[in-house]
Amino acid sequence: MMISFKMPEKIEQSMVIMETVAENMMRPVSRYFDEHEHEIPWDYIEFMHNSMKAMGAGTMTDAGPKKKEGPSLSFQRLAFTAEMLSWGDVGLWLCTPGGGLGGATVNATGTPEQKERFLSRMSGDKPVFDAMALTEPHAGSAMPAEVRTTAVRDGEEWVLNGEKIFVTAGNKALVDSEGFVVIWATIDPEAGRAGVRPFVVEAGTPGCSVSKMEHKLGIRASDTVSIVLQDCRLPFDNILGSPEVVKKKTEKGFKGAMATFDATRPLVAASALGIARATLELLKELLQERGVEIRYGIPRSRMTNLEREIIDMETMLRSTWLLTLKSMWLADERKSNTIEASMCKVKAGDVVVKITQRAVELLGPLGYSREYLLEKWFRDAKINYLYEGTGQINRLIVARRILEYSRHELS
Ligand SMILES: Cc1cc2nc3c(=O)[nH]c(=O)nc-3n(C[C@H](O)[C@H](O)[C@H](O)COP(=O)(O)OP(=O)(O)OC[C@H]3O[C@@H](n4cnc5c(N)ncnc54)[C@H](O)[C@@H]3O)c2cc1C
Repeated sequence: MMISFKMPEKIEQSMVIMETVAENMMRPVSRYFDEHEHEIPWDYIEFMHNSMKAMGAGTMTDAGPKKKEGPSLSFQRLAFTAEMLSWGDVGLWLCTPGGGLGGATVNATGTPEQKERFLSRMSGDKPVFDAMALTEPHAGSAMPAEVRTTAVRDGEEWVLNGEKIFVTAGNKALVDSEGFVVIWATIDPEAGRAGVRPFVVEAGTPGCSVSKMEHKLGIRASDTVSIVLQDCRLPFDNILGSPEVVKKKTEKGFKGAMATFDATRPLVAASALGIARATLELLKELLQERGVEIRYGIPRSRMTNLEREIIDMETMLRSTWLLTLKSMWLADERKSNTIEASMCKVKAGDVVVKITQRAVELLGPLGYSREYLLEKWFRDAKINYLYEGTGQINRLIVARRILEYSRHELS
């Protein structure tokens, strides 16, 4: 099967709709929700929920026309959607119902019954959100080996205790909707990574509460919260994966998390590239209004420094987008994409930070002013380097895979 560089026709159709949403529902309220952190963009949320329902989809993964035959396009469609809606506004994109990391974890690690039980609510009457909580106050990059939240079996129930921090959409999942959060906890603290499992904690479960909402540099339309679990009782079947601990190399619990990240890291990359594209387009437009044209095709030695810089930025953007698409194409083909997922996440994190920073610099006061969204995009960009594994951690993953080193040999 050859990779094709042309946007599949079915995706092209839905991108026309997404572009309209981005232009008409996101851009006009971008500044408002940046300045009114913790207000919820219900118009956008309701619209997306109803649109997905109309398409017969519950989660973002199965949004779009149903495929009849041939290879799946779900992940590629999701990448195009993430790019386009982040071009509109990345904070609002992170408020898309049914598009969170919790659903992705259930998809990657749940049984068919669990998928039905937890994901079917996404296509109900009201928008529903999902989140995933791995990070704890003492560790983020070192997860999941350092998970301290415990899950103890008590008859036909699990009892969870611990604290999670920086959970994207946690408030929407637990307080603003009948959603769920996937909590990573250890069922055997002595077993390290092998003892760690994801658990689905549904909204309204006693013992699970949101304890703090963060105030952030960027993506301010998206809520980020701390969650406390205090003798939180769950039905036995809310564990994703095996309740048995196998203390050998398989580390099955951890592999579940990795499967999630292989699917979601390219989405962060796509989202980052949406911000970068928005920035480059506005930068060129503002330069053009001031009489600066980019003379494509002339020898590089005759270009101005500005022209060279813009063309270099466009090259970074396009090459990283191709890497992201390759990663999603592999996922659609059900082939391993761990290296590509981490590579595109690293590259996109670098590219979006470079492009947004340079745009603010090149336009001087105009870039720094709140008159344009450039300064906001500069603030929104940085998170793409941080969450879902920082740039440093994803570089380590790539290096280990290429060099065939274990975690202990290269850390
Ligand atoms: C807005 C936002 C949303 C988030 N959403 C979620 C979410 O939904 N769910 C969730 O579970 N988490 C979430 N996180 C947490 C995020 O994934 C962590 O912040 C990230 O994994 C880094 O962990 P840490 O903050 O503990 O930093 P640390 O692990 O302490 O790292 C600090 C610095 O050291 C570097 N570093 C660490 N180890 C190494 C190493 N071995 N080699 C080289 N450098 C290293 C890191 O790259 C980083 O630069 C979110 C964070 C933010 C800011």
